[in-house]
Amino acid sequence: MLCHVESISGYMVESLTSIPYCNENSLRIIRELKMVKHSKKSTLNICAYCGTLSYTTPDHIPPKNLFPKPWKNLISVPACKVCHANTSKDDEYFRLKILMREDVLSNPGARIAWKVALRSLTKTEATGLRKKVVLDLTNVEMRTQSGLYVGTRPGYNVDMNRIRSVLQRIVRGLYFRETGNVLGLNTKVHLYMDDDFIELPSHTRDEIQPVILYLASLPPITIGENIFLYRYHIAKKDSTVSAWGLSFYGKFPFLAMTGPSTPKPV
Ligand SMILES: [Zn+2]
Repeated sequence: MLCHVESISGYMVESLTSIPYCNENSLRIIRELKMVKHSKKSTLNICAYCGTLSYTTPDHIPPKNLFPKPWKNLISVPACKVCHANTSKDDEYFRLKILMREDVLSNPGARIAWKVALRSLTKTEATGLRKKVVLDLTNVEMRTQSGLYVGTRPGYNVDMNRIRSVLQRIVRGLYFRETGNVLGLNTKVHLYMDDDFIELPSHTRDEIQPVILYLASLPPITIGENIFLYRYHIAKKDSTVSAWGLSFYGKFPFLAMTGPSTPKPV
């Protein structure tokens, strides 16, 4: 039996039809090849999230549904089938919950994205999400900074696990884009959003305050018409330690710090 060798997207892989010597890795690749053989978008590549060599599809970070059309200069990174699975549902949820914030709708791009999001909610496949959005509506207690109750106002609940999942994916993708390296799933991504910043222990606030100030002094990288911007810094001694400042529609700022276990100053 001959062993044909052909190049797919710059990588040399053994032919699907004639493989005299296989190891476990090549069998896995073949299984994945068979699964995605009809997907014209798939190419063999390193997954930006888990680092496996696999058939990948472009994954937009941040989700492209945040940007009004025409889409130009969006960021995408290669993602394997496993890492790409179910991202579209989380992306849809992420878009809705960001656009439900009052403060972002001062951005013209956000107003367009909100109309598109509402239209997509009318689709049959969005029935589950539509019900969830209605169930999430609630009344929120209003308190002064000293904790004094001053009444209620309409609001909504947010599944923060889904929001954090999308934000962490964005940070991992940006890390890959900026460094060409995979951050690795063993490296944690710690997130601090503006809403929970004041609830952090004072020593944590003291630790990350200088990082925020430093990031704010850097020129931003902007994608779209003020739709998304980010700033970042990567530590010289340990490249897995990094800090990222991101915001959407000129609002919704958050800080992400990556590292082995606990955040360290960069
Ligand atoms: Zn992956």
